[in-house]
Amino acid sequence: MHQATAAQVWETALGQLQVQLSRSSYDTWLKNTQGLALGEDRFIVGTPNPFIREGLERRLYTLIRKTLMALTGQPNLAVEFQVAALLTATASRPAAPQAREESAFTENTTLRPPEAGLAPLIAWDWPYPQPSLNAKFTFERFVVGGCNQFSHAAAARVAERPGAAYNPLFLYGGVGLGKTHLLQAVGHRALGQSPKVLHVSGDQFTREFVGAIRNQTTDEFQLKYRSAEILLVDDVQFLAGREQTQESFFHIFNELHSHSRQIILASDRPPQAIPGLADRLVSRFQGGLLADLQSPELETRQAILRLRLEEEGCPCEDECLALLAAAAPGSIRGLEELLNRVLLQARLSQSQLNPALVAQALARSPRPSSRPATNPAAILGAVAEHFRLAPEALSGPSRDRRTSQARQVAIFLLREELRRPWAEIGRELGGRRDSSVLRGYARVSAALKADAELRLLVSQLRERLGAELLPPDPRSH
Ligand code: ADP
Ligand code: MG
Repeated sequence: MHQATAAQVWETALGQLQVQLSRSSYDTWLKNTQGLALGEDRFIVGTPNPFIREGLERRLYTLIRKTLMALTGQPNLAVEFQVAALLTATASRPAAPQAREESAFTENTTLRPPEAGLAPLIAWDWPYPQPSLNAKFTFERFVVGGCNQFSHAAAARVAERPGAAYNPLFLYGGVGLGKTHLLQAVGHRALGQSPKVLHVSGDQFTREFVGAIRNQTTDEFQLKYRSAEILLVDDVQFLAGREQTQESFFHIFNELHSHSRQIILASDRPPQAIPGLADRLVSRFQGGLLADLQSPELETRQAILRLRLEEEGCPCEDECLALLAAAAPGSIRGLEELLNRVLLQARLSQSQLNPALVAQALARSPRPSSRPATNPAAILGAVAEHFRLAPEALSGPSRDRRTSQARQVAIFLLREELRRPWAEIGRELGGRRDSSVLRGYARVSAALKADAELRLLVSQLRERLGAELLPPDPRSH
């Protein structure tokens, strides 16, 4: 175990955690922590006091472990939290917050309100705390490309004239494509005009509602949401299947809508495709503007990387940028994770980003050790998407270069990932003969030895297939 490395790993992990957590949770639980030691199979995080240690163990263990596993590439990593206020590493931190953390603990063993320094901008008639928005999710940091142009324009318009443009604005799209970022960007802008911004996720709303029923405070609950000028609801799909919660939300929605208060919703799919969402909510949600976010194109991915690297003060050759952008075709979150990993590698080897280092880091990308079985449709979908083909093209007759290549990669993955018999692979691909399936497999496995780009492609597809099948993260993004 050695300290310098642990500190660097933890610093990078904090960067990633900060993006995923609300500002108040981050400030409360993670701000004054440190990476103490990194061993073969465990990582020790230092906390300023026992209160924070317990909180981290109870609330954030899984997320922290997942983040550290991805960063270190150690699939069996255990994470431990230790109170470390007296270690010398703490000396580098400003003394005042440290002292405050400790007194907060001795005086008060219950949950402390987040960060007194961030005193809410409360109007005298607005008794609710400032919404917890991620400081990084602003319009300024949102890169616009073909994949998100429409949603961005709609969100910008709504932020400019809340209640007057589209109401509700319903943002939807796959995981990690920028819904939460855009939703919160509107929130940040809106706060400049009025403090009456409420931000909640579908499951938070549900929990609050259930709590209100239990405590017989449904009136206060309704009053709070009905007095919002702007209501942001992230992951609204989590309202589905809960009759009473949906009814309560329906009334709030109508009340706000009829007074031209702006409502912005985000979900992983369009309203009509959310199973268990009440018909009347579906039709209300459809009554405004539906705007979707797509997977980023190469240029957008490059632009995002450029922005992030600029923020990190990290110069990078165009070739690196191209390599990185090519390696993460799926979501923007995936792209950021990849970049963080590569930056960490660069820091650890104390060098600047260069193509060799990037290629090396990509080759070492960790893969989940006990990956759940994927399925043929997922493989075909991922391959087709990478080659920008319709999935049906893979089982069709076309033999043009791109389609043939894609088909061969699909054969290779179907065999390697799923161990399918040749005949079955042939059937998946529109009734191809064994001999031609075998030939395709042989071509790819031979080419992999010499072709670094192909290796990269295959490993990225595998990682992505693995990642997509991991259980969904319970937190909202
Ligand atoms: P979603 O809510 O769709 O799952 P998020 O909004 O949480 O996705 O985005 C995932 C990550 O990608 C965040 O760190 C976010 O800042 C970043 N991101 C998404 N879209 C963009 C964009 N257009 N420009 C810059 N960063 C983006
Ligand atoms: Mg989200």
